Amino acid sequence: MTPPIVTIQNVTKRFGASFRAVDDVSLDIADNEFFALLGPSGCGKTTLLRMLAGFEIPTEGTILLSGDDITTKPPHRRPVNMVFQSYAVFPHMTVAENVAYGLKVTGMPKAETTPKVQEALEMVRLGPLGGRRPDQLSGGQRQRVALARALVKRPKVLLLDEPLSALDKKLREEMQLELVRLRHEVGITFIMVTHDQEEAMAVASRIGVMQAGKLAQIAPPSELYEHPANRFTADFVGSINFFDGTVRGLDGGMAQVRCERLASDFLVDAPAGIRTGDALTIGVRPEKMATVDTMRPPADRPVNRLAGTVAEIAYLGERSVLHVAVDGASDRPLVKVSQPNDRRLGRGAAALSSGAAVTLWWRPESGIALVE
Ligand code: ATP
Repeated sequence: MTPPIVTIQNVTKRFGASFRAVDDVSLDIADNEFFALLGPSGCGKTTLLRMLAGFEIPTEGTILLSGDDITTKPPHRRPVNMVFQSYAVFPHMTVAENVAYGLKVTGMPKAETTPKVQEALEMVRLGPLGGRRPDQLSGGQRQRVALARALVKRPKVLLLDEPLSALDKKLREEMQLELVRLRHEVGITFIMVTHDQEEAMAVASRIGVMQAGKLAQIAPPSELYEHPANRFTADFVGSINFFDGTVRGLDGGMAQVRCERLASDFLVDAPAGIRTGDALTIGVRPEKMATVDTMRPPADRPVNRLAGTVAEIAYLGERSVLHVAVDGASDRPLVKVSQPNDRRLGRGAAALSSGAAVTLWWRPESGIALVE
């Protein structure tokens, strides 16, 4: 394995006497990776990024870049550059002057900066717009100027702090693809902070989920979604139903879980070390469930079933999302089920209506056992 480009070793950042914004975080980021730091507001992701940029100094721990200790190095002496949420471009300069600025302050002669600036503008697809001023650009184009400004100095690592959050949804999705293309093209490491799980999944090859200053899980997007390590990650990444219960029995690698609230027993693949009597939560993604009318359960294998009444249906074109109130549960909790509106699947979810009695089912192996 190639050595990591960024090594974060036991880094803690305290504000005040006892508050730990970042709490004993260790993480390796590989060269050429697109890494996303994901988490809710206040979890410490920006503070961690700012320590990589040199805008904050860790209270404890070490940060290495290509093996060099940069923990206390000032920002301008690190081979990293940061792109901020607000476009941070100079309004009185042209696009090309904005991009050239960082090179000019290092004393580089104009004959050298001009081709570099043009190359950076081409990279972000602003080649012909070098003569414009920022107020003659769209939001997406302004953010490209900020990207070109960061890239023109050829940093080893590009740090991106919620770079797309000021853009509307459609443009944001377009720019996500652009970022992935750009990273590929320039061949450097991107580390991006976001609170948007869909955005992190769309761009990153690996995601670090942060919770209260700590890394809750580090994994590629699909692993995070399919095998969340804990309830926090399962809930934060994608939509999920939780069924809290107690293990009643263990048989053939499966746990039978009694869920009192739903007056039901469910099967799930037994996690290592689990014992009868232990508390266990089963997480089930909405698309892993179906109604027996739209998709018939297999007759030869055990499946979990749950009877209810459709409370609400959201038609989303390709899919419908049903909210089903569980029968037999005193507080009628809602279970979320997402079904394709595909005619091949019997009547299709779109044919169901509010108030209809349904039986939901899912395979034991489709549930995620969460021990906490
Ligand atoms: P957001 O998405 O809202 O920006 P975040 O996950 O990036 O959140 P941080 O900005 O890293 O969170 O902040 C983490 C915690 O540290 C927050 O509780 C914040 O109030 C606190 N914090 C950040 N900077 C400072 C500071 N300079 N002084 C005191 N507390 C701070």
